[in-house]
Amino acid sequence: MKTRAIRLLRIAAASMALVSFAAAPAGDREPAVVTPGTAGSPPSDAVVLFDGKDLSAWKSDDGSEPKWKLENGHMEVRGKGLMTRQEFGAIQLHLEWASPAEVKGDGQGRGNSGVYFQGRYEIQVLDSYQNKTYFNGQAASFYGHNAPLVNTSRKPGEWQTYDIVFHPPKPGAEGKVQPGSFTVLHNGVLVQDHIPIQGDASVSAKLSGATPTGPLFLQDHGNPVRYRNIWVRKLD
Ligand code: MG
Repeated sequence: MKTRAIRLLRIAAASMALVSFAAAPAGDREPAVVTPGTAGSPPSDAVVLFDGKDLSAWKSDDGSEPKWKLENGHMEVRGKGLMTRQEFGAIQLHLEWASPAEVKGDGQGRGNSGVYFQGRYEIQVLDSYQNKTYFNGQAASFYGHNAPLVNTSRKPGEWQTYDIVFHPPKPGAEGKVQPGSFTVLHNGVLVQDHIPIQGDASVSAKLSGATPTGPLFLQDHGNPVRYRNIWVRKLD
């Protein structure tokens, strides 16, 4: 009798455990422990794309070895855009950039580069410090689509940060595209607040539509823009 009672209790306990496990929603999993970086350094689960030492994570957009200038822990645009050898879907990106200290040109001709996600959706890099241009083409714009909420640009030559959460568009029903999204912080300030990515091409990016993965691409727009400390975290 005693043994049967214990067995019943065990079955009851096991059932309750099953019920409580089954009842836990998918978003209620124990969050993984990730050691944060310090002063902009990568957290423990990041894929480091550029740490100032070499360009091994990159190739030129024609597939050749990158020719960008590498010195003092940064790289500088020099002939052809750079794309990552690795491809990504949804990511969190951190990068730092600086437009040339010596101001030349104006509008889109001043400190122009850009960060393209999956080689097709550009967050603009531009010297937008006291430099007017069309709103959806200034620094931290989703180029050709959406202006930033504010202009929080630092002066030419000063290092600036982008922290960007990118979710790519996905194939939807009836051949349509299910929009992705951009959330962008420029120098720690929110400038793109969960903006939809509809999958359309823009004048700066001929590719369009949904793709599961694609390279990160840094644009050569003929201006010696500098980059340093680039890392991503995969989100899917
Ligand atoms: Mg650009």
